[in-house]
Amino acid sequence: MWCDVKLLDLILPVRCVICGAGGEQLCPACRSALPRLAPPLCARCGAPTAWPVQRCRECAGRRLAFASARAAVAYDPAVRQLVRAWKERGLRTLAAVAADAVADTLPAPGVAALAFVPSDRARGLERGHHPAERLARELGRRWSLPVHALLGRTGPASRQRGLTLADRRRNVGGAFAPAGESPSGVALVDDVYTSGSTANAAASALRKSGARRVEVITFARVVR
Ligand SMILES: [Zn+2]
Ligand SMILES: [Zn+2]
Repeated sequence: MWCDVKLLDLILPVRCVICGAGGEQLCPACRSALPRLAPPLCARCGAPTAWPVQRCRECAGRRLAFASARAAVAYDPAVRQLVRAWKERGLRTLAAVAADAVADTLPAPGVAALAFVPSDRARGLERGHHPAERLARELGRRWSLPVHALLGRTGPASRQRGLTLADRRRNVGGAFAPAGESPSGVALVDDVYTSGSTANAAASALRKSGARRVEVITFARVVR
């Protein structure tokens, strides 16, 4: 199935993954309509808020291993389609589009290096590529920051999709282990911030390997 989809991508004319217009994988109209996230935001988790706050309804009372989380766009149905095409069909140019959106929206982080959330090994092989790593490498080029593979998976975390929020938080707990020594300041890159549980578990592993400040950067963020 995976090979068939890839083959079709080679044969069929290029179409916008959101509206279907011919010509580009993301047409100019859909590109400029991406729902950018803008302040006021929760200083900690990056959720849009009515006014600037240090903690919001979504993150208050949670122990968070990261100092801040920021995303370029809201994970609305159009962005969901884009992320799905990027992840499941392996459309490489979409990683560059996502990186452009991030670099246009967010300032370069004041850190020594970028790290990325490693793919679940089985699913990574199935897809043949790693969206978070590719996004990190694209951002590293734009921000002139080195990208290090600082994290590994400790076990086959079961799929997050379809789990409740509480189950998601339990599911990823302990799913990451340090794979190298982290610089003191590091930015952790992932494609989508959903419940924050993946970012939190990965940031916690980075803290164990020497990071004192972890900033989370994602292309999209679920807005509740
Ligand atoms: Zn379009
Ligand atoms: Zn918050």
